[in-house]
Amino acid sequence: MARERFDENWRFRSFLKGYDADVEEIDATVHEIYREVSAQIDCTACANCCKIVSPVLNMADIQKFSEGLGISVSKMMAEHIAHHEKPDRFRFNKKPCPFLENNLCSNYDHRPRDCRSFPHLHKPDFIFRLWNVVDNCEVCPIVFNVYERLKIVFAFRC
Ligand code: SF4
Repeated sequence: MARERFDENWRFRSFLKGYDADVEEIDATVHEIYREVSAQIDCTACANCCKIVSPVLNMADIQKFSEGLGISVSKMMAEHIAHHEKPDRFRFNKKPCPFLENNLCSNYDHRPRDCRSFPHLHKPDFIFRLWNVVDNCEVCPIVFNVYERLKIVFAFRC
């Protein structure tokens, strides 16, 4: 459905960019809708984020993750980590994430910050992160549904 609405979603992005409202006002609306939508969606029935998106990792993430697995950081680096295009950032070397088991994170309590934060809709400055939001409409049903609800709230005419 997100693919079908690809053009419309980009048009809504332009609409939001020009919308006459404070950044905080838009954030408050997004946060409220996000709470409502996420309460109705079972992430373990999907786990698309862990299958499609590569979380961006830093060394602290890798240390914590290794601890959770009970292996050394050097073993973790050698077997599971690749460099990210950004300096001092890393990613898992396989996709889907090799630590996803039956749609659950097998190292959940030690998962990286980026995994904890996904789909990032609780954060401030929604209006400045719309490229990622449109991309994530194809990954995450929460993002897709929040974006659809926003079209109604802001009276967007396709
Ligand atoms: S570390 Fe866990 S939460 Fe993060 S992508 Fe892998 S399976 Fe998903």
